Amino acid sequence: MPSFYYLLFCPSVRRILAAPLTRHENSGSIYTLRLGYSYTFKIGQTKRPFCTRFAEHCRRCPSNGYSAERNLKCRYAKKTEQLVHALLREMGMQRTPTPCNDCGTRHREFFHLPPGFDDDCIDDLLVFVKSVVEYLY
Ligand SMILES: [Zn+2]
Repeated sequence: MPSFYYLLFCPSVRRILAAPLTRHENSGSIYTLRLGYSYTFKIGQTKRPFCTRFAEHCRRCPSNGYSAERNLKCRYAKKTEQLVHALLREMGMQRTPTPCNDCGTRHREFFHLPPGFDDDCIDDLLVFVKSVVEYLY
């Protein structure tokens, strides 16, 4: 498993950690969806039941061929999501957003995992970030 600890010292990540929780913060879950058979994942958060949110994604953007991967309950779902995205960006994994064929949105929550960074590593990352956030806030 890669160590994510050093990433907490990146300026972009420190800015997020220095900011207080917003009043829109919510408990909920952070989840990952795989796109087809690719190594691209969508990572999001929701305060509603995961299966409801998953069904919405599938209806809205059917071409992406989402399959549900992980779903981790967390106390501060938005901060956790924000931080997970920042860490993946620091590791250079954010996919360049292009307009979606189905909904036209440039999905910014898509991340491409390099070889060696498998879904177990994503799991470790989610648990790591959740722990950091729940320790600090
Ligand atoms: Zn879409």
